[in-house]
Amino acid sequence: MSNIGAAGMAAVPTETPAVNQTEIVRNIASGVRWMRFTPGLERLFEAETGARRSRQLMIGIIPALLLFEAIVVTDFQALPDIVWPAIVLRLGAMNLVGLFALLILWRNPPPALREGVAMAVIIAQSAILMVLVALSDSAYRGHYHVGMLLGLMFGVMVLRVRFWYMLAAAVATCFLFMATSLNYSGLPQIEQQGMASVMFAATIFSMMAGYSLEREQRLTWLRSLNERLRSDRFEELSSVDPLTGLGNRRALDRAVEHVRGDRRAAASVSMALVDIDHFKAYNDAFGHVAGDDCLRRVAGLLLAEARKRGDAVFRFGGEEFVVLITGTDAAGARQACERMRRLIEADSIPHVMPRRGGRVTVSIGVASVTDGTAFDADALIFEADRQLYLAKSQGRNRISPPALAVAGAAEPASQAGRA
Ligand code: GH3
Ligand code: MG
Ligand code: MG
Repeated sequence: MSNIGAAGMAAVPTETPAVNQTEIVRNIASGVRWMRFTPGLERLFEAETGARRSRQLMIGIIPALLLFEAIVVTDFQALPDIVWPAIVLRLGAMNLVGLFALLILWRNPPPALREGVAMAVIIAQSAILMVLVALSDSAYRGHYHVGMLLGLMFGVMVLRVRFWYMLAAAVATCFLFMATSLNYSGLPQIEQQGMASVMFAATIFSMMAGYSLEREQRLTWLRSLNERLRSDRFEELSSVDPLTGLGNRRALDRAVEHVRGDRRAAASVSMALVDIDHFKAYNDAFGHVAGDDCLRRVAGLLLAEARKRGDAVFRFGGEEFVVLITGTDAAGARQACERMRRLIEADSIPHVMPRRGGRVTVSIGVASVTDGTAFDADALIFEADRQLYLAKSQGRNRISPPALAVAGAAEPASQAGRA
């Protein structure tokens, strides 16, 4: 007996990402403490969130740049001795760094470059503040390097720079802060110490916040991925007929939608309704379990034949199957069906019906829309059902409308006058 599995759904697209649930559960259990998933998941995470993250960074950086530039107005009063350097640094250097960063982010770069760029923007603003404080002799310059703290907050809370990059930015900012405070701020030692305490405490708190924010974000993403996979799996299971492993009517609906979206396939569509002849008598004679075996056998044969042409087979219900045939005209579809009919007849599954030569046979009704006009699946099934009725009433073990000659096979028993 053929191993048909869920192969009847070959024409049905699936959106399940290429990761397995065990890997997800393992990552959730690990708690993502090091801010990194296993490689496959990390790639998927990036693929799903990277573009949005680049946009998020751009949206954060633009207003911050404008704000940083606007403070030049304060420089005019607080650092009157370095008006021109302030203008050059704030409107020139910072703008240059900012625009360069935006240009890179616009192209949705790989994660290391993207986070590195965000880190560079934070360090650049601290470095510019350092230069301003170093250049000026104003009595107010000592308050300026506190702006570095704002840069840090901005990185953690607005840009949400990924943890390891943010840690690097924070360490660099702390060094710049200390260097500025000690060498250029002109502040008395006691004030320097006070500011340093605030800076360190704020750095530690904001890094803790950044760590839990990112960890929560990563875990939330993992859980939602898990849910998505579970519902995809559910969808898959609920589209498979458990007895034969073929797709069921739900899968047929999806396959029809899929064909509808493919202009070439949709230009010539046929549906065949395949019904086992005298199956009630088969069940009555051999029992329901043997009946089930027979259904599986017929399903496997239909699928094996349909697969050769890339067609799909579904269990329509009971002892009826639907074959969805695309890419051929009505005559081609009928020939494909005739081959299926003969294959099942040639398989010689024993039956009690002597008039059928004592073997299991099928009748098939076919309907086609092959003139390129939009097809209506319900109308096709309706017509195929009508044709099936004709095939049955004309003696069974035949297809309707009849196919032209199929090479290398005998006429059906019933059509050969033994009905
Ligand atoms: P016809 O040639 O006109 O199609 O006659 P038939 O006996 O095949 O048709 P009918 O509709 O009278 O009977 C269909 C039978 O299929 C009845 C039912 O017991 C059987 N059947 C439907 N589903 C299953 C199934 O899942 N397993 C088994 N073993 N039998 C089934
Ligand atoms: Mg039937
Ligand atoms: Mg039947």
